[in-house]
This record gives sequence, C-alpha cells and structure tokens, in this order.
Amino acid sequence: MAKDHKKQFKHSSKHRSKQVTGADALVRMNYLYQASSLFSQGASPSLSRFYAQSMKTVAARMVLRMDPQVKRTICKGCCSLLIPGMNALVETKDSNAGVPHVITTTCTLCSRTKNLPVTSNHALFTERVGVVVSKEEAPEDASSKD
Ligand SMILES: [Zn+2]
Repeated sequence: MAKDHKKQFKHSSKHRSKQVTGADALVRMNYLYQASSLFSQGASPSLSRFYAQSMKTVAARMVLRMDPQVKRTICKGCCSLLIPGMNALVETKDSNAGVPHVITTTCTLCSRTKNLPVTSNHALFTERVGVVVSKEEAPEDASSKD
C-alpha cells in the first residue's frame, strides 16, 4: 500500500516537471510584443522600440528563445518592429553562399539588414514534428483509484 502511494507521488511529480519553464517570462514577453506592435503603427515608435528592447532583455535574462517568426520582425540595430512597406524594405536577391536566393529586410531607420536564405526543405525548430509539447494530460491512475 505504501509503495502504491509512493509510486503515485512519483507519477505526479513527473507531470509537474512537464510544465513550461519560465512561463511567467513568456507571458510577459507576449505582452511586451503586443504592446510594441500596438505602438509601432504610428502612435509612438520610440515606445514601441522600448517594449521590443524590454522583451529582448527578458528573453536574454531568462535564457528563453524567442519564436523565430517573432524574432525576424525585430530589428537587431534599433529594436523597432519591422513592418514591410512602413519601416522596412523587403527584397529578394541572388546569393553567392550556397543557397540560390536570399530575402533581405532592411530597416529604414538604422539601415541594418537581415538576410534569410530561401531553401525549400528548411523547417524552423518550431515547425518540426514532436518539438511542441502538447497540453498536459490528466493523470489517469489517480482518477481510477478513487
Ligand atoms: Zn533598425
């Protein structure tokens, strides 16, 4: 009987370890990105850059990875949100470095460029199968014993 209780405790602690690390920081980063995108569209570009800078600082301090789709919208030079046609110039160029084409995004504020290679078989780490952790399952053993 005692062994069963101990086994059940182990089982529940195993489920606890599946929780997302840095969940509070991720929520804060999400909020800061939304605030940055809200202020980037005309109201206050400097406030937008401040929120994006804060999001990068939170990610660096908590050692969390930003989603690549989010990371690609932030300028590395001035932390402004890159919106094509508004403050970013997006071009496709021929490349010399192994890949045929490169998407070049240029920030119109600081003139910093981002080069993203265009490859047909490339998948981001968030798009790979099995990387995304599904929602935590309810422990089946605890409900069946009651
Ligand atoms: Zn910039």
